[in-house]
Amino acid sequence: AVSAAEPGNDIVFFKRADEKARQLFNIENALNHALEKKQFRLFMQPVVDLDTGAILGAEALIRWEHPRLGLVSPGHFIPMLEHNGGIHDVGAWVLEEAIRGLHQWPDSDGLQIGVNVSRIQLETPDFLDYSAQLMDRANGQAGSLILEMTESMAMRDPEVIISRLRELKTHGHDMAMDDFGTGYSSLAYLKRFPFDYIKIDRAFVRGIPDDVENDLLVQTMRDMTSRLGKRTVAEGVETPEEARRLKQLGFRGVQGYLFDRPMPADDFGELLVKKHEYPVYGEASKT
Ligand code: C2E
Ligand code: MG
Ligand code: MG
Ligand code: MG
Repeated sequence: AVSAAEPGNDIVFFKRADEKARQLFNIENALNHALEKKQFRLFMQPVVDLDTGAILGAEALIRWEHPRLGLVSPGHFIPMLEHNGGIHDVGAWVLEEAIRGLHQWPDSDGLQIGVNVSRIQLETPDFLDYSAQLMDRANGQAGSLILEMTESMAMRDPEVIISRLRELKTHGHDMAMDDFGTGYSSLAYLKRFPFDYIKIDRAFVRGIPDDVENDLLVQTMRDMTSRLGKRTVAEGVETPEEARRLKQLGFRGVQGYLFDRPMPADDFGELLVKKHEYPVYGEASKT
């Protein structure tokens, strides 16, 4: 570490800070041209039915294919786009691409594609009209979209989000609360948010059932959300033990590396063509 307190180090310190600022500026600049240069890719991660191994749908996850840096993950550039307003155009592109997928893939009957939307998109006055149009276009299509919003974003000014989401619901979109468990929403809000799905964050799925604390938390979350009449999806399932346990607890929709990683949309289409089924873990549930 360089200490700026020593006089001799001042120059080094400022040079480094300067270098860092320049790099950031270059990246942001490149990012702002990524859309027109067609450098974004929309990957799909299958959402799998634990009972049958069938594909229920997918979550759309954006990637930036930078000529030098390779595939950049959204955690690195979404915040930048939210900050500089680029999220509006990029977010629209994501929704268009997801719908294009629904049109292109065969047998997308009942298929649901989760699309992550940023709070900033949701707050735009145009978003309602825009989403009504999207709905029209997705309608007549077999599949549909689920709009995903993180719990922490929803909890920043929840009253605003509640009324916004209610309006959106009138257009027929399904909605999911993403990364549930990381955003400190209260039971009272959970009840009032018109979310159809609750996606339980990977942090809680990890290590169940051996991780007894996580196991208890997942049970409680599942219990609570199903009592509120919401469907649950578990994220980031990596091991057969986790899958078996989730099935025991009555989960149906899951996604995670155990089944598949996010993949190019065409590859996902191929899985649908082949009617691909994933392995089933644990005993068949008796209904
Ligand atoms: P998210 O919506 O919670 O997406 C799930 C993240 O978990 C994805 O990371 C996915 O690749 C990763 N994941 C899936 N299965 C596993 C697993 O088994 N183990 C582990 N360790 N990770 C797994 P990714 O693609 O890097 O996306 C990170 C976040 O960036 C997303 O979290 C979402 O909040 C945001 N994001 C992604 N695409 C978009 C987008 O198009 N628009 C907006 N606004 N945000 C996006
Ligand atoms: Mg998500
Ligand atoms: Mg998530
Ligand atoms: Mg997440």
